[in-house]
Amino acid sequence: MTPKHPALDRGEYAVIGLGKSGRAAAELLRRAGAEVYASDAKPSAAAEQAASALRALGVAVDVGVHDLDRIARAARVVASPGVPPDAPPLAAARAAGVPIVGEIEIALQFLPDSRVIAITGTNGKTTTTALVGALLRALGRNAIDAGNIGTPLASVALGTTHPEWVALELSSFQLHDTPSIDPAVGVVTNLSPDHLDRYASVDEYYQDKALIFRNMRASSKWVLNADDPATLTLARRLPPTLSPADAPTDRWPLGMTSRFSLAAPADAWFDRAANTLMVLGAPLLERTDLSLFGDHNVANALAASLAVMVADEAHRTPEARTKIATGLRSFTALKHRLEVVGEFNGVQWINDSKATNVSSTLVAVDGMTRPTILLLGGRHKGEPYTALAPAIRKTCRAVIAYGESADIVMQDLGALVPVERLGSDFGEVLDRARALARPGDAVLLSPACSSYDMFNNYEERGAEFRRLAAGKAG
Ligand code: ADP
Repeated sequence: MTPKHPALDRGEYAVIGLGKSGRAAAELLRRAGAEVYASDAKPSAAAEQAASALRALGVAVDVGVHDLDRIARAARVVASPGVPPDAPPLAAARAAGVPIVGEIEIALQFLPDSRVIAITGTNGKTTTTALVGALLRALGRNAIDAGNIGTPLASVALGTTHPEWVALELSSFQLHDTPSIDPAVGVVTNLSPDHLDRYASVDEYYQDKALIFRNMRASSKWVLNADDPATLTLARRLPPTLSPADAPTDRWPLGMTSRFSLAAPADAWFDRAANTLMVLGAPLLERTDLSLFGDHNVANALAASLAVMVADEAHRTPEARTKIATGLRSFTALKHRLEVVGEFNGVQWINDSKATNVSSTLVAVDGMTRPTILLLGGRHKGEPYTALAPAIRKTCRAVIAYGESADIVMQDLGALVPVERLGSDFGEVLDRARALARPGDAVLLSPACSSYDMFNNYEERGAEFRRLAAGKAG
């Protein structure tokens, strides 16, 4: 066993959840010399596999049960983002006064020399994170994309060498449990209501998002959405206990703020008349050179370019700008995000399974250029669907409401636009879409709901859409 890492607490760490991030956190802690107990209430093949790998390292593991007494005696609890705050192990930790942190908090202690560009917001986080990573690499930097995007930061910390830069996607749940977050550049893409199934109010959700600013200093750098007032004023939502005492509240966030806009000149902005992305006072790229659909992706590209350019002086030279433009040109849509899966019998099938809230579906529907059959439904997350009506009227031939939320979709939209209600058979939903679509149309899966009523996750929903779309080609 290696000697104990100086950042480690005395006593045992209790890691809750054996998913990718829990497993990586447990391994990281154990390899650094900590006593670790890991547990997952849900038995699964993946959990068993993680358990045996961790046991081989000397981690105590339970699958199928949490030892609540042991958790209550831990020095620190490491919670996976998927574990709700009221789950018994977290309730037990809280009742016993055991501090709860996330996997990212642990990983950050082991990556003191990596520079972090942290990205949060309601929509566009993953795309912007992938763009930031791609642009850093286009500049020849050693950069890794991590966090909510897929690779746990603890896995990065476990590597034998550490990257110079990390493009780190942070959800509100992850921010909640990462008290050390202090990025070289912090990006907030946009804010709108989401996760009302887990937060009591929009305010509470925004307060977690505001935690990206919790360690802000005069030397901090921020990239914010100039078109979204909630983003510009987000830092003011920090609770007074976390706000630097000497900070003049009229100049928040502390540090340097750069802004991006689709509507008006800003540090990075879309000059629509010239069809050009402008960054730091000069043209960077023509819109047509970016292969991504929709204005929202122009916003993501502006945010990412600006973040990379303000992060380091060397990223703003004429040579660097050329490399950034090249990086943008070669960037293609990520899976499940307005991803064209094929064109069959003249109908384009577009997988936007990752659109799990109303605002993300809104930008997708708004950006459609063909008459569209929209597939809307899944597990309801609390927001009304009425906001979609004007965009649907503009671009959609029909809407198919399906899954658990079908009745609510009908209730909200039925009187405003043509909606058909189906059940929870996804094959039937796609059959009906195919019957409704004419050559030249698009079928868009942009559900505005989570997938958990019919699938394990949005990836599975998108994969099934791709499979069924192709299967129906004949
Ligand atoms: P996140 O990681 O925040 O969920 P993604 O980049 O995965 O964001 O995109 C998810 C969906 O959100 C996309 O399919 C698209 O419909 C929508 N979206 C992406 N970027 C934006 C944006 N800047 N503004 C609004 N909606 C967006």
